Formats: sequence, structure tokens, C-alpha cells
Amino acid sequence: MLDTQYTNELVCPYCGHEFSDSWEREDRGEFECYECDKNFSFDTDVTRLYSSERDCQLNGQEHEWEDTRELSRGTWQKCKNCDQTNFLRHKE
Ligand SMILES: [Zn+2]
Ligand SMILES: [Zn+2]
Repeated sequence: MLDTQYTNELVCPYCGHEFSDSWEREDRGEFECYECDKNFSFDTDVTRLYSSERDCQLNGQEHEWEDTRELSRGTWQKCKNCDQTNFLRHKE
């Protein structure tokens, strides 16, 4: 089995030829290997990771904090309605 997943260079899944970055590459598409003349498709999704979070404040709402973890210096809180967290320091 050829290792063609999560490679830094585009690798032909048929013959294993590595294509360098010297050519203009699309994010995804089809490519014809000039070594073995086979066509294959590729995409580069794994190099572009998105993460999204809900946030009450962006929607004009107040967070509804809930204590999740007690530490000696304070308390971690997490909002019941979104993904935001807050560290509430204990007063000295
Ligand atoms: Zn090839
Ligand atoms: Zn919230």
C-alpha cells in the first residue's frame, strides 16, 4: 500500500511518484500523473482546519456561567448556552 494520506507532497496513488510544489496547485481537483499516465483526484482539506465555536456575546446574549472545575486559585466556568469558558479568580 502506498502512503498517500496526509502527505506533504502530492503523491500519485498509482505509482507513488511525488510531485513537488513547483507547479500551481489547486486545493482540490484532478491530476494526471506524468509518470504513469493515470488520473487521480486529490484535495488538501486536511491542511486547512477550521474550528468554530458558539458565542452568546456575538448574538447579543449574556453568558450563563456554570461552574465546571474548582481550583485553589479560582473556578473554571463554562457557559450553558455556548462554548465559551471563563476563569473566575477567587478574591485574595
Ligand atoms: Zn503515477
Ligand atoms: Zn454563552
